[in-house]
Amino acid sequence: MATPKHASNFNREPRVLYLATQNEHKVEEFQDMLGPEWDVRSTARLEAESGEKISWDETGETFEANARIKARTLRRLTRAAVLADDSGLVVDALGGAPGIYSSRYAGTPHGTPRKDADAANTRKLLAALEGIPDAQRTARFICCLLFIDEGGKETAIEGSCEGRIATAPSGKGGFGYDPVFLVPGRGCTMAELPDAEKNMISHRASAVGKFLAKFL
Ligand code: IMP
Repeated sequence: MATPKHASNFNREPRVLYLATQNEHKVEEFQDMLGPEWDVRSTARLEAESGEKISWDETGETFEANARIKARTLRRLTRAAVLADDSGLVVDALGGAPGIYSSRYAGTPHGTPRKDADAANTRKLLAALEGIPDAQRTARFICCLLFIDEGGKETAIEGSCEGRIATAPSGKGGFGYDPVFLVPGRGCTMAELPDAEKNMISHRASAVGKFLAKFL
C-alpha cells in the first residue's frame, strides 16, 4: 500500500523548514511547538547559505499579507519549505487597533529596547480604553502563519486567543501586551501565567495546532 506523502515520519529525515524571523528565540519556540518531524532553520542560516542579505518591509494591511511578504522573501532563496508568522492584538472597542501596528502602536523610535516599547504600547492602550466598561473591553491575540511548501503552494492559517483588556497592568511574565490581557476563566493576566500554560493557550499555539493537523 502506498504511504501518503508526509503521513508518517517514521524513519524519515525531519522536513526542513526555514522560519522568516529576525528573532532567534522564535526559532527555538517553533522547533519546540512543531516537534522532531521538522528541522526548523533560521533566516540567519539561509542568509549565510545563500550569501544574500535578507530583509523585508511589513507593508501589508493584514496579518496574512505581512506573513506572506516575509515568507515569499525567504522562498526566493530556497526550494525548501518556509514558514512566516505575523501576530498582534485586536481590540473590539478600538475598531481592531492596534492590530498590525501592535509592535509600534505608541510610535517609540526604532531601536527602543523591547521592554520600553512594550510598556509605552501598553500605556497607550490603557489610555485609549479609559472609561470603557469591562464588558466592552473584549480583545484577542491573532497569529497568522503563512506556509509555503516545497512545491511553492501557499497556505494561510490563523489562530487566536480571546480575552479582555484589564484597567491596569499585572504580572511579570511574557512580553508585549501580556500584562493587560485578561485570560477568561483564569482570573489573571497572560503575564501572570507560567510560560508553559501561556504556550498551551496562546494564539501561536492555536495556529501551530491547526498547522500540524493539516501538514503532519
Ligand atoms: P510578532 O508579529 O510576533 O512580532 O508580534 C507583533 C506584536 O504583537 C508584538 O510586538 C506584541 O506587541 C504583540 N504580540 C504578539 N504576540 C504577543 C503575545 O503573545 N503577547 C503579547 N503581545 C503580543
